[in-house]
Amino acid sequence: MPKLPPIRLRVCPECDAAGDLMQSRCWLCGHAFDGAVDSAQVVEAELIPEHGAGQFSLSTLLLAVTLACVCAGAATVEPGYAVILVMVSVPAWIGTVITKRKYAAKGKPLGWFGRIVAFIVSAIVSYMALVAVAAILAMAVFLALAIYCSIAIANSGGGFH
Ligand SMILES: [Zn+2]
Repeated sequence: MPKLPPIRLRVCPECDAAGDLMQSRCWLCGHAFDGAVDSAQVVEAELIPEHGAGQFSLSTLLLAVTLACVCAGAATVEPGYAVILVMVSVPAWIGTVITKRKYAAKGKPLGWFGRIVAFIVSAIVSYMALVAVAAILAMAVFLALAIYCSIAIANSGGGFH
C-alpha cells in the first residue's frame, strides 16, 4: 500500500480534538478559533485509510455484514428471535461506534479487544433495557386486563341479580 503524505491537523486548545486545519470551530466542543493558525496547535498526522475520521473501517463493515447475516439467518428460523436480535444488536452497535469514536478522538484507538468488550457491554445494557421495557409492558397489560375484568365482573354481577 503506498504511503500517503502526512496531513496537518489543528488541535483544539479546549478539548484536544484534532480537526481540519481550515476549520473555524472545533468539531467536537464548538470552540471558536480566532484568526490565524497557531503553529503550536498544529500537529502532523499520517493518513491511514482504515482509521479515516468519519468513515467506517473495513473491520467495522465486516462486523456489520456479519451481524446482518446473523439477523437474517435468525429471521428465517424464528422471526421473534430476529426482532430481539435486531433490538439488542442495533443499540449495541451504536454504542460500540460511539465508544470507538470517543477513544479515537482522545488519540487512543480502540483495539479489537476493546471493541468486542464495548459491543458486549452495550449488548448487555440494551438487552437489560429491553427486558425492563418488556416487563413494564407485561405489567401494564396485566393491570389493564385486571381492571377490565373487575369492571366486567362487577357489571355482569350487577346485571344478573
Ligand atoms: Zn474542542
